[in-house]
Amino acid sequence: MTPSLASLAGLLRRIPGRAEKLAPEPPEENVLQSGEALLRRKRNKVAIFAILFGLVSAAIDLPLPAEDAYRAVRAQLRSRPAPPDIVMVTVDDATLNELGKELPSRSDDSALVDRLVAAGVDKIVFDRAHADPETPASDATFERMLERHKGKVWLGMTPSYQIKFQKIDRILPLERFRQHAAMASMTGFASPFSLSVVFPTSVDIDGTTYPSISAALAGYDGSSLRYRPDFAFNPWTIPTYSYVDVLKGRVPASKLRGRSVIIGRSFFESSDFLVMPLKGRVPGSYFHVIGAQTLKSGVPTDLYWFPAMLIVVMAIGSYTLGRSRSARPLWFAAVGLPLLAFPLDEVRFNIDIMPAMLALGFAGIGFHRIAKKYYSSDVDAMTTSALSLDKGSAALDVYALRIANLAEMSEEWSPRELGEFVNSLITYIKGPGEAGDVAFERDSLVWLAPRMDKVSLERHADGLALMLKTAISYDWQSASSTPAIGIDTNYSLPLGQRIKKAMQAADEAANRGVRFIINDAAYVEARNYRLEIMRVLEKGLRERKIGVAYQPKIDLATGRIVGAETLIRWKPDGQDFVNPQELVLAAEASDRINELTMIVMEAALVDGREAIALDPGFKLAINMSAKSLSDTHLLFDMMTMLGRIGFPAENLTLELTETAKLEDKLIAPQISALNARGIGLSIDDFGTGQSNLEYLEKLPSSELKIDKKFVQHMATSEESHAVVRATIEIAHSLGKVVVAEGVETEAVADQLRAMGCDQAQGFLFSQAIAMPELLIMMGGKRIVVNA
Ligand code: C2E
Ligand code: CA
Ligand code: CA
Repeated sequence: MTPSLASLAGLLRRIPGRAEKLAPEPPEENVLQSGEALLRRKRNKVAIFAILFGLVSAAIDLPLPAEDAYRAVRAQLRSRPAPPDIVMVTVDDATLNELGKELPSRSDDSALVDRLVAAGVDKIVFDRAHADPETPASDATFERMLERHKGKVWLGMTPSYQIKFQKIDRILPLERFRQHAAMASMTGFASPFSLSVVFPTSVDIDGTTYPSISAALAGYDGSSLRYRPDFAFNPWTIPTYSYVDVLKGRVPASKLRGRSVIIGRSFFESSDFLVMPLKGRVPGSYFHVIGAQTLKSGVPTDLYWFPAMLIVVMAIGSYTLGRSRSARPLWFAAVGLPLLAFPLDEVRFNIDIMPAMLALGFAGIGFHRIAKKYYSSDVDAMTTSALSLDKGSAALDVYALRIANLAEMSEEWSPRELGEFVNSLITYIKGPGEAGDVAFERDSLVWLAPRMDKVSLERHADGLALMLKTAISYDWQSASSTPAIGIDTNYSLPLGQRIKKAMQAADEAANRGVRFIINDAAYVEARNYRLEIMRVLEKGLRERKIGVAYQPKIDLATGRIVGAETLIRWKPDGQDFVNPQELVLAAEASDRINELTMIVMEAALVDGREAIALDPGFKLAINMSAKSLSDTHLLFDMMTMLGRIGFPAENLTLELTETAKLEDKLIAPQISALNARGIGLSIDDFGTGQSNLEYLEKLPSSELKIDKKFVQHMATSEESHAVVRATIEIAHSLGKVVVAEGVETEAVADQLRAMGCDQAQGFLFSQAIAMPELLIMMGGKRIVVNA
């Protein structure tokens, strides 16, 4: 199924010689390559807008919720247990119940710390400030405890900070506590939808630096930064003990030895809960623990949206600038970026992918729209919209190639094969070098090429159609598809309309089975005329009223009228005479020729009875397409009509014309039926078309009519003279009557008589006339001419 390029080169050399193009030469590059240029421009525009959109959305944090949500999803997928080295001791509902208080007192806290230190914990961090005095006794107890365990205990604090218009005052432990204990910041920053948190590693108060709780727990002493805790650490796996259990010595020391401890709360009514995406309400202290675990596993680096955007810019760039026009880089980025975030999470590089994904989505939709409108990706070819420029097209001819049967052919083909087929045609079309872009639309190819004069254009179109037909049947082993070309030369019309007209012309060429149709003014006129003729025919058939006249047939020896040919002479109300030939062609094309024949025959048989009354030997001739002979119904209807009207069959002659080959098998029975009734057959237009010697043999006729073409040229052309002489001799040797038609001069009549021609017909004797006139003429018995 693959076209061979070797054969292509061979065929291209066989293209008929090209005629000179019309001056002025069009700026070819400019006009012909404009489809490509248009596509490129549109794509560039989309690319730039997409990237700008991405940058702006990054600047205003537009896709933040999506970013956080996707980060949460990643964390969920990377979920792992938290290491056991940091434990939480929590004031839970069991603690409050057992102690019977609203909160443990500072004395309880002191006892707790003593217990923890005794168990051998490493450090103790309160997620609570101890900022207000309690009772003098418990405060003193607490202070003494701090003194005892200097260097082991951190108290929570919050620096003052500003959120929008709200100023939050700093919260510090009581002065007396601060002297003996370290402090760690409890502050974290939640994102607008609380889907993520950012912690500082340290805060500054009055020139002194304090670690955050997470940094204190992790023992982090690197440079100050803000980081995102990695939610992959599952909060529910953090070792957690009830405050009261520790206080009452119910937690074995082995579980606490060497661990760092955060003391927080998780009783139901505590306000210290935060929503962790996909995890639900999580005690605030857990965030600090997860932060600490994050810091311990590697200090996170925030790369923001830069790397993702860079990748997307490169993908968009390679799509718009690349030759291949493959969407692969875009898909690569669309799939790769979200995946890339996983390993980066793992090595503690935070990237934001959403602004880049937005840019990518924008670009993807834009490119897709362009592709849909201007580009048919099935077959890897442009659509005609890409050709439709508002630029003038006066210097160009618009071509359309309709591949008949493409739909059927391509049914068995894969899209790839269809694409190959279409593109091999495009290569052929572009081969001669004058065509620019070739677009694909429905089952047609459309392209533009420099304008040519009419003669050259016809020759070119014919050659091109032939070449493509050869190419298709040769390369694709498909004889079923005949290419038909339509060309528009309405130079003043907009290109879009011209493309439509060219496609219509190609469709019509395909329907009519011709190689090409040039849609110019003359063609439009001819088509309108044909349409008008069809209307007229329709009316005539409907009203069963089509005018006929009779042209006498003269016996050359005696000058007497021996018969007449029925010819359509019809003047529909208020209109001119219709051209009989055109009317017959229209009837044949619309498959209504038999109806027409019967209407003409009915009128002629009725009239003809009067002529027979005057001369019983009178022969009435009626024209019939030889093809109709194969129609048994028509024959049956004819016989019935003869009987109904009472016209003697032996007075009727059928003049048969034929443009296509006759199938003798199909007509043989009908011919014998006609012969049996004595109906005469006459071969019309002998010497033209199919009416040759072979035809003579096939049709057992009684009469032969020499075409007027030869008769009229007899006087001036040796050849015509010889044809007429030979025809007369052949006819006579076969026992047939010879009639010469189109006799216009006395000289021709004399020559025919001398050659022994039996009958003549022509303007010399009479035009086609109405029956009453014919009867008068017959009454005169002899045509005056020869008197
Ligand atoms: P045809 O059968 O060859 O008819 C003869 C044509 O030659 C007629 O043209 C007639 O008017 C024309 N003619 C006769 N004498 C002369 C002459 O001396 N000089 C010249 N130049 N022409 C002459 P018409 O009537 O225009 O018909 C054209 C064709 O249309 C006919 O050619 C025939 O093929 C077809 N036609 C006409 N009437 C009928 C019909 O009723 N049925 C069918 N099937 N075809 C018809
Ligand atoms: Ca005829
Ligand atoms: Ca004829």
